[in-house]
Amino acid sequence: MESHNLKLLGLSQSQLENIAIQNGESAFRGRQIYQWIYRRGISKIDDITVLPKKWRNSLLEKRITVGALKEINRLKSEDGTIKLLLQSEDNELIETVGIPTRNRLTICVSSQIGCSMGCRFCATGKGGLQRSLKTSEIIAQFFAIKKAFKRAPSHVVFMGMGEPLLNIGQVLESIRCFNKDLDIGQRRITVSTVGVINQLPKLGELAIDCLGSAQFTLAVSLHAPNQELREALIPSAKQYTLDCLLKDCRHYIHLTGRRVSFEYILLGDLNDQVEHAEELANLVGGFQSHVNLIAYNPIVEETFQRPSKNRIYKFMDRLEERGVAVSFRKSRGLDKNAACGQLRRLHI
Ligand code: SF4
Repeated sequence: MESHNLKLLGLSQSQLENIAIQNGESAFRGRQIYQWIYRRGISKIDDITVLPKKWRNSLLEKRITVGALKEINRLKSEDGTIKLLLQSEDNELIETVGIPTRNRLTICVSSQIGCSMGCRFCATGKGGLQRSLKTSEIIAQFFAIKKAFKRAPSHVVFMGMGEPLLNIGQVLESIRCFNKDLDIGQRRITVSTVGVINQLPKLGELAIDCLGSAQFTLAVSLHAPNQELREALIPSAKQYTLDCLLKDCRHYIHLTGRRVSFEYILLGDLNDQVEHAEELANLVGGFQSHVNLIAYNPIVEETFQRPSKNRIYKFMDRLEERGVAVSFRKSRGLDKNAACGQLRRLHI
């Protein structure tokens, strides 16, 4: 591993031991770094005072840093949700969100800066993709949220900016780190995707290689019960049809032994009628799956409407009548630019 200009967050204990050895110290120094960055949450090499000062200086000269991100804005909603805007070393802006409940703190991490998928209902998709995030930048979001809440996140969802399946390597490395170094069970981690052609089988296979097993939850965003409506909402659906996506989901379930969650964003008068619920039930019937309904969060660039409560309940009822496991995810942080990518767009 090239040890110039290196970020330490995201590296395993054995990788840190190797870095210590490559830089003229014993493996023990690597274990000390591991303890101080993951257990104590230290964000600067110079603050790891257990390391000899001379060695700390030599690491800094080689531009080896922990990799923490600078917080440049923070919004707190009445429900306690905190959205942070973080700045990368190359001055890009990364959104991350902490969503607290009594028993858990969920962090919604970004996997890319911007996004190339262009989903019509999403603020992030409006500005295109800047670049994918490195593992250190994904893990740094955890520590930024931990600092904001003064407690560690218990659950991780890859539902922030970006399409995780276009950054699979770094996403899996991050899951390894969340799981092994930050003690978050794989089953408390969710990877959400709108689907990218050929990437679902790859995710399953690489996850088994990298993590030993793929026990995290895969959440696939359907958002429409038929091909025509899906194409109107998600441009990439033209190349990656619903039939192919569902076939890949079945393959993923077979490969990993895990059920898949389907996400469905309810857009008023567009995909929220009982007939749509019927179509959706036909689509996912017989699947080992769960459907999560989400009410649309308005963004300025589009005129989509939030669905009425009545429509939401009727939609849910119909799915339940058809034997589909369903839940409704309440929007959190609605008073503070809740939709993914909105805070960043106010700053660019
Ligand atoms: S919904 Fe997700 S995949 Fe679609 S544009 Fe937004 S960030 Fe990208």
